[in-house]
Amino acid sequence: MSECLFCGIVEGKIKGEIVYRDDSIVAFKDIHPRAPVHILIIPAKHISTLLDLQNEDNGLVGEIFSVANRLAKEQGISTDGFRVVANCGAAAGQTVFHIHFHLLGGRNFSWPPG
Ligand code: 5GP
Ligand code: ZN
Repeated sequence: MSECLFCGIVEGKIKGEIVYRDDSIVAFKDIHPRAPVHILIIPAKHISTLLDLQNEDNGLVGEIFSVANRLAKEQGISTDGFRVVANCGAAAGQTVFHIHFHLLGGRNFSWPPG
């Protein structure tokens, strides 16, 4: 999937401000932050949308939330509260088709989302 933007960041071919990496997960700052803290947490392997997750990926999704908790603490947003958002498909606003979980914090958020 060499044409995938986020695979390019995982592979180091495209610049990304990486804040966490292990064998299966990479997290980096969003290029257009919507909050004082806005990090994208992604699986290192290419998965296009949430609908493409397989049972074998269940552990991976758990790891993503472990990383979200770790980064929320490291970034100082765990006490006040934070949001984790995953958009699936065009109507939800997904623009990059390599699954990613937005970790957002550092301000108050409205509900329901726009
Ligand atoms: P989506 O709209 O698919 O849920 O979120 C895609 C996110 O990727 C957006 O928040 C957008 O700002 C971010 N993004 C798009 N291109 C790049 C890039 O080249 N680098 C980084 N770090 N983030 C990007
Ligand atoms: Zn990809």
